[in-house]
Amino acid sequence: MKTIGILGAGQLGRMLALAGYPLGLRFRFLDPAAEAPAEQLADRLTGAYEDLVCLQQFTPGLDLVTYEFENVPVTTARYLAQRVPVYPPPAALEAAQDRVVEKQFFHQAGLSTVPFAEVNSRPELTTAVQQIGLPAILKTRRHGYDGKGQVVLRTVEDLPQAWTVLGGVPLILEAMVSFEREVSLLAVRGREGTIAFYPLVQNQHREGMLRLSLAPAPGLTADLQQEAEECGRRVLSALDYVGVLAIEFFQMPAAQGGPRLLANEMAPRVHNSGHWTIEGAETSQFENHLRAVLGLPLGSTACLGCAAMINLIGTIPPLAPLLSLPDVHVHLYGKSPRPGRKLGHVTVRTPDAATLLARLTVVQRLVHDE
Ligand code: AMP
Repeated sequence: MKTIGILGAGQLGRMLALAGYPLGLRFRFLDPAAEAPAEQLADRLTGAYEDLVCLQQFTPGLDLVTYEFENVPVTTARYLAQRVPVYPPPAALEAAQDRVVEKQFFHQAGLSTVPFAEVNSRPELTTAVQQIGLPAILKTRRHGYDGKGQVVLRTVEDLPQAWTVLGGVPLILEAMVSFEREVSLLAVRGREGTIAFYPLVQNQHREGMLRLSLAPAPGLTADLQQEAEECGRRVLSALDYVGVLAIEFFQMPAAQGGPRLLANEMAPRVHNSGHWTIEGAETSQFENHLRAVLGLPLGSTACLGCAAMINLIGTIPPLAPLLSLPDVHVHLYGKSPRPGRKLGHVTVRTPDAATLLARLTVVQRLVHDE
């Protein structure tokens, strides 16, 4: 029986374990947080990712280590990689943890991004705004997630306040683009280099947080899927990647004539926009991640009809009305409710798009997410 060590014990770790038990796998988690959704299912060490004593307690008996959290220190991943196989490669963490490094990496791999500039001082902010133009978004380079650490700049009068809020840490200024929609690609690469892609997913964010994913993205054309897969292939190969990787794109209007997909960010792990695959695909992203890191054959990424995933954020709605609906699947993560916290998700899976929209309207009303 194989034992997999997972850095991070949040809901992604929990769903990895749930996907791994039918394959006879065992799990051990490491997470510094007081409350960790995965600890309800498996052993969990509580400690800092940098704590060497903790890491030494974590590794004995592990067959490999993976992560469900991309801000694990790269030094920790490299330290562990000297003792036990670590997938995805620590270089993927390094590329994903800093928005400037990530965009430079995308460019080197041949992907397009929004125009951007580094900002390390107040004068550099003024210069960057002259270079990039307005509106623009000022973001922290590191540790931003779910829209945190970001300020929109609409006029030059917004600069002093934005600097007060974010200044003092390395920043990036990005041109604010008018995209048609946001889409993401879930890709998986096995240890032997086999690659598979799920169909592009359309994502809706509010206040920087993912609210809704539709899979496949409505109106998805073979051309767009191909363009996304080409981007995915380049990133996976450049990193000699193993596991599931998510790339989030801004889809630009075709009329503009430039590239249709601008890479915004990537996550070297299973991703919220792939939760629909549990019921909506032949093999879930969680199972495919485990298959990939274990060197097992990848499973089919084919869709089983159409799916929508709605995040449950801040509060959990009454379950009975949701569970009384056909085609609806509820996932709760065992977390205490708190405003802005992802507590679970609901997946609706139907044979066709018309039924999906009808069901989705009812579900959104029940979870107060219209
Ligand atoms: P991020 O943390 O980069 O994923 O940003 C959170 C959300 O803010 C994105 O999903 C977009 O909806 C929006 N956003 C971020 N960057 C840009 C940009 N450069 N132009 C337009 N919208 C953006």
